[in-house]
Amino acid sequence: MTQVFKFGGASVQDAAAIRRVGELLARFRARPLIVVVSAMGKTTNALEALLAAAREGEAADYQERLETLRREHLTTVEALFGDRAGPVKKRVESLLTELDQRHRRHARRERPFHYDQTVCFGELLSTTIISAWLDEIGMATEWQDARDLVVTDDCYQAANVDWQATAERVRAMASDNDRIHITQGFIGGTVEGTSTTLGREGSDFSAAILAHCLDAEEVTIWKDVPGIFNADPRRVDNAVQLEQISYDEAVELAWHGAKVIHPKTLGPLQQKSIPLTVRSFEDLEAPPSTIGQDTRFDTQTPSLILREAQTLLEIRTRDFTFMDEARQHDILGRLVEAGLHAGLIDAGAMRLSLSLDGHPERLEPLVASLCEDYAVERCDDLTLLNVRHADDALLAALSAGRDSLAERRNADTAQRLFPGSQCRGTWHIPR
Ligand code: ADP
Ligand code: ASP
Ligand code: MG
Repeated sequence: MTQVFKFGGASVQDAAAIRRVGELLARFRARPLIVVVSAMGKTTNALEALLAAAREGEAADYQERLETLRREHLTTVEALFGDRAGPVKKRVESLLTELDQRHRRHARRERPFHYDQTVCFGELLSTTIISAWLDEIGMATEWQDARDLVVTDDCYQAANVDWQATAERVRAMASDNDRIHITQGFIGGTVEGTSTTLGREGSDFSAAILAHCLDAEEVTIWKDVPGIFNADPRRVDNAVQLEQISYDEAVELAWHGAKVIHPKTLGPLQQKSIPLTVRSFEDLEAPPSTIGQDTRFDTQTPSLILREAQTLLEIRTRDFTFMDEARQHDILGRLVEAGLHAGLIDAGAMRLSLSLDGHPERLEPLVASLCEDYAVERCDDLTLLNVRHADDALLAALSAGRDSLAERRNADTAQRLFPGSQCRGTWHIPR
């Protein structure tokens, strides 16, 4: 049965990392094997900055950023292939030329379209290099263009998958079973063949789409952490690994902002009962975390998710009438139109409070539109603390010395919004 592997940016960030991916893949002989790869390191951020430079910045800034991308990718190619680098360098150069040409062609088009035509190159570059490297070390690979596999609508930057068309194309691809199929995460294409993207960090979702369409046996996501923890181990000094998690619990963690898995990933897998394993690419012996159907393992271990750079909007009617369902519907409708997600929604008789990711391009027009019809109070640079399975004592301990500006609680999740300045640095979960 088919296995799907996904390698994120950190696992392919430079020549040493790509070599390690090659060594890792050499240990897995089972076929069919589909390998989904993200852009190298922070390339997607660099492409976003390139786009901003192209649209709003100086031409010199754009050229410098393009040159940096070129240099970084070519350095990796040279480090991998040495004096045999010529053909791969040529392919990388030609992708960068195509990127540059697209910029010029699309500079006056609306931003989301331009974004997708630009940012898709991160994954095209990484998979070109990695596929060539695997061939170089004697592994038979087939490079697949995800824009021909994952069929989407034209909702740029957050494209929706056409499942039926995608399944047909993906099944046709997988008929060649001996080779490792290497494809890009995060990107897709419309039926007309225009590039689209699935949303930031969307490569996990790409792996799930392919696994769903192929009725895969398992999806493995290779990370710089051994698995899923009850908090980001970079922020919480006593985070513990959760080795078995149900889909439902994992969806809750991802939905509340645990950065380890893209929230859309679990649905397509849960529908087909395909387990998802998160493993360390640095330590193959480390016990992984597995997400599956079985809820027996869901402990009541509290999990912490910190969501930073939040903006709180407190919205009231101007005439002191109720914040009734019709008004909530109006406000949330505007939120959907702006493409923003509220990490916390809390309604009172006269007020609706929303905690939103501080995404200036989307937030500012939303705030301007709300201010036309409502009284809006705003507070920036906040941190939203989400705690799963918290008891009162834990919540009180986590809140000590912090001013809660908004809160919400249901049976299994408590949320509190604090000033960001009170939340920086390392956290500790009191026992
Ligand atoms: P990728 O290389 O796949 O893009 P990411 O950097 O997006 O990987 O995700 C891995 C990082 O996620 C880890 O380095 C870790 O700091 C962070 N992280 C956040 N929350 C968690 C969590 N609950 N469990 C494990 N890692 C987490
Ligand atoms: N490269 C894309 C990003 O950084 C997709 C991904 O890595 O999942 O958002
Ligand atoms: Mg990532």
